[in-house]
Amino acid sequence: MTSRRDFLQKAGLSTLAVSLPFTDALSAMSLEREDKVLRVAIMGLGSYGTRVAEAMKDCKRAKLVGVISGTPSKIEAWKQKYGIPAKNCYNYENYHQIKDNPDIDAVYVITPNSLHKPHSIGVAKAGKHVICEKPMALNAEEGREMIAACKAAGVHLMVGYRMHFEAKTLEVVKKQRAGEFGKTLFFQGLSGFMIGDPTQWRLNRELAGGGSMMDIGVYSINGARYMLGEEPIWVTAQEVKTDPVKFKQGVDETITFQMGFPSGAVASCLSTYSMNNLDKFFLNGTKGFAEMQPSTGYGPIQARTNQGPIEAQHITHQTTQMEEMAAIILDGKKPLIPVDGEEGLKDLVIVDAIYEAVRTGARISLI
Ligand code: NAD
Repeated sequence: MTSRRDFLQKAGLSTLAVSLPFTDALSAMSLEREDKVLRVAIMGLGSYGTRVAEAMKDCKRAKLVGVISGTPSKIEAWKQKYGIPAKNCYNYENYHQIKDNPDIDAVYVITPNSLHKPHSIGVAKAGKHVICEKPMALNAEEGREMIAACKAAGVHLMVGYRMHFEAKTLEVVKKQRAGEFGKTLFFQGLSGFMIGDPTQWRLNRELAGGGSMMDIGVYSINGARYMLGEEPIWVTAQEVKTDPVKFKQGVDETITFQMGFPSGAVASCLSTYSMNNLDKFFLNGTKGFAEMQPSTGYGPIQARTNQGPIEAQHITHQTTQMEEMAAIILDGKKPLIPVDGEEGLKDLVIVDAIYEAVRTGARISLI
């Protein structure tokens, strides 16, 4: 049996130590506080929603208590499988009534990309905290609307950036922040996989908002920012399409893009739906380097630096993510790498610039 403290130590995280002053940290160790649990409903019972539900079985601070789905048979199956009471089950027509349900604190929106904005705003208006999958929205304008709606409703808006809580990622980021690699001047991010079924929503512009960039390229954008620890000031990008039937107008197959940073650092990245074996981050500095491969898959993540391998036990990413998001909402914990709406917006501003750079061939300034 693993105790909660063991769990956090293995995850390389110490919720109590990071978030609270010493005396509070002591009182926080009381059972009463440990019992404070974030009660979550999942909206969108698809492939990733199922993965999150399974991962939450191991959570101590977050519990799956409700569902929102348009498919009655899925609701029935989830009621049985996860012990969800009928009063916590909703569909897309009546989920606004969740505002009258005191037994649900937060809704995790795991629907196709174009639905993130309307669903998140609907949840916020119902007075519940919003956890939204990546990409947070289709573009920066939508992202800003979501942030405003959550602010107006007084609820948290968080993006499902599971890597922000992954132990080896955090170790590399801490080393970078501590200057162990010297001045970091280059990041390479390779994000891609070979996509299958041509009829899936990921290849439908209306639902996906684009192609590989919206789905997998965002990992390299986000990774460049947290690995280098600064925000880009310009973007250039080029698109390549080998299959215009599968990847229709507005659905990008492969995009290479570059970002420049205030320190003089540059990032060189690839996003594709046409090749496997692309899940790699490389960070180089004047004194050392870090290499992660796989870098953002479901793990185990592999990481090494010029000093040798980074060791940390693999814990299901979504389990750690939901534990930490519970701590953010319930304890006011501040994560090392943010997961809030502003963080999601920063990635969307870059996505917009990448698409503009592809369209115009120009170098797009972000300042
Ligand atoms: P999926 O197709 O397996 O599931 C999507 C769900 O949304 C389905 O249950 C579907 O019924 C429901 N849905 C509701 N309205 C719909 C509509 N109008 N059209 C189509 N489906 C509708 O997809 P998924 O892989 O679970 O992806 C869902 C979201 O999760 C996406 O935004 C994706 O980017 C994100 N995701 C994140 C990660 C991660 O590691 N963070 C991994 C996979 C997916």
